Amino acid sequence: MMMNAAQYEESLRKLDLVVYMFGRRIENPVDDPIIRPSMNAVAKTYEMASVPEFEEVMTATSHLSGEKINRFTHIHQSTEDLIKKTKMGRLLGAHTGCCFQRCVGMDALNALSIVTYDLDKKYGTEYNRRFLKYLTYVQENDLTCDGAMTDPKGDRGLPPHKQPDPDMYLRVVEETEGGIVVRGAKAHQTGAVNSHEIIVMPTIAMREEDKDYAVSFALPSDVKGITYIMGRQSCDTRKVERDLMDTGNPVFGGHEALVVFDDVFVPWERVFLYKEHEFAGPLVERFASYHRQSYACKSGVGDVLIGAAQTIAEYNGVHNASHVKDKIIEMNHLNETLFCGSLACAAEGRREPSGTWCVNTLLANVSKQNVTRFPYEIARLAQDIAGGLMVTLPSAADFTSPEVGKLLEKYYRGNPDVSTKNRFRILRLIENLTLGAAAVGYLTESMHGAGSPQAQRIMIARQAGLPEKQKLAKKLCGI
Ligand code: SF4
Ligand code: FE
Repeated sequence: MMMNAAQYEESLRKLDLVVYMFGRRIENPVDDPIIRPSMNAVAKTYEMASVPEFEEVMTATSHLSGEKINRFTHIHQSTEDLIKKTKMGRLLGAHTGCCFQRCVGMDALNALSIVTYDLDKKYGTEYNRRFLKYLTYVQENDLTCDGAMTDPKGDRGLPPHKQPDPDMYLRVVEETEGGIVVRGAKAHQTGAVNSHEIIVMPTIAMREEDKDYAVSFALPSDVKGITYIMGRQSCDTRKVERDLMDTGNPVFGGHEALVVFDDVFVPWERVFLYKEHEFAGPLVERFASYHRQSYACKSGVGDVLIGAAQTIAEYNGVHNASHVKDKIIEMNHLNETLFCGSLACAAEGRREPSGTWCVNTLLANVSKQNVTRFPYEIARLAQDIAGGLMVTLPSAADFTSPEVGKLLEKYYRGNPDVSTKNRFRILRLIENLTLGAAAVGYLTESMHGAGSPQAQRIMIARQAGLPEKQKLAKKLCGI
């Protein structure tokens, strides 16, 4: 059964998560003013699935049950599915103006659907059966999963087993009859506190010596032994102020957390990779490719930023200046190029032996490489158009102050047809996206999320097919 937004919120209330923020335990994350906007963003993935206009993109038919399910729990069955996934990312980015967090789980499920199948083929294991049973549970209950990959990694020059502290990569510390016991942490976990499930995967390719680190499994997010420590975002405490206008986006946001696993028990039924170290690399690669495609979300957020830039240009009365028009064109050109990359890797996707459709790896990496750059340029142009007032604007409280409010009203008026307050609002939104709380997602996450730029360059180098290209050149000139 698909959940709606209210049911999703209620389902989170039933979780007993151990969450820390600003040095204290947060007993009720759902209603915490700093966390709540991120919950609202995930809730949007539930809400939009029942809007007739968006149903086509937001829902899919389960290949297991034949039932209609939320696309975030779907295993892609065609290039059309992959293309709809790209469109879903843009749609939600545009409707929330932030990271809506639910893609990581979808990408983890799809990567595991491929790799558990390949594992069983080689070893006669039963990972795929376990995985499909788990997937059925996720689809039937319309769950949000956190796909947890990034380990803290300690000294980057050392492999997992050589780290002075052996917990710098998540590992198996004990094997029992009923399952395994794991210890370690996953950093930067998008939407972790808004998730019902945590799906853990290794973070790098591994060798024999690292086999205790080659592990993948899923756990309910509130199982004993898991602790969440919330990351803070630029300007986050504006969310606890009385007037939320200074946040720029009062309703939606994202979050990341450090997730610590302190000797947590995982039953065998939920283990999807265990010491088959040579499958760590393929699992990382699949997840990374899918997740690099998911960054279509940034073109949706880009839509919001472009809309904001055009609006402030009008409010400032400069929208007819040719250089402003040209900057808006440039922003659109860059933003659509991002969308093109995500669409292209979907369109060039292919069927894996498991039946899952996977994106084209080279194009997914090229697409994400663009994402590490273009949002910065789009943000630069938005700031150019917005003007310096975006960062010198007094607070919402000054605006309503009986002493100075009138002065701000008078001196910060632009276009006489637009209220000063609305000019203020749109400037705060641009601030939010380019250097406030949403810049975490729109800029730095664009840089490092789903792998830092160099990770994509390595994949591009591997996949670029240089010998064939050389052959073509040599043939033409008679070598
Ligand atoms: Fe999804 Fe984008 Fe957030 Fe990653 S950054 S979880 S792709 S919305
Ligand atoms: Fe991400």
